[in-house]
Amino acid sequence: MQALAPADLPGLRAALMRRGLTLATLLAEVLAGKRPPSLQQLLNARPGMRPEEVVRLALEQVESRRRLLDAGDDRFGRCDVCGTALGLTAMHEVPWADRCHQHAGI
Ligand SMILES: [Zn+2]
Repeated sequence: MQALAPADLPGLRAALMRRGLTLATLLAEVLAGKRPPSLQQLLNARPGMRPEEVVRLALEQVESRRRLLDAGDDRFGRCDVCGTALGLTAMHEVPWADRCHQHAGI
């Protein structure tokens, strides 16, 4: 598994910023009473959560990962539960990832 290198970080940061912007826009739409049909699939929401909760949580996740990245905190790119490095390929797919495969969905 290829590890994250400093040269990878600007691209990942840009992807986090884009994701944050998408989610902020989505949150504004949800709060304005619109319910984008793709919300459930997009965010893999648990049933019973209100749409604005779902989007807020997703936005918080993106923001907290970006803060780790900006702080040079090596928890970025690692599982929050076990500390396993998630690898470059996974981080390019989901730059806001914070769980390994084993701990996904906790
Ligand atoms: Zn883990």
